[in-house]
Amino acid sequence: MPDNKHREGSLDAPTRYPIDWKSDKFNDPDDLTQELERVFDVCHTCRRCVSLCESFPRLFDLIDESPTLEVDGVDKSDFQ
Ligand code: SF4
Repeated sequence: MPDNKHREGSLDAPTRYPIDWKSDKFNDPDDLTQELERVFDVCHTCRRCVSLCESFPRLFDLIDESPTLEVDGVDKSDFQ
């Protein structure tokens, strides 16, 4: 029996998680950079919606031009 908690394509209502937007960490630039790197790495690996988002060609170019050929090699100043 599949694990319903983590299945894809469910018709169940999505779970909403509160965003702690009042914390100091929410506006911390270093924390944002860390989160962007995490998200870029997930999207670089997934690529499921590559045809739907204009960010991908730029992200892939930055990764291809990086010394590691991975998100960790992209200059953080290019994240913007
Ligand atoms: S579906 Fe799209 S936005 Fe979501 S992780 Fe995959 S590439 Fe990124």
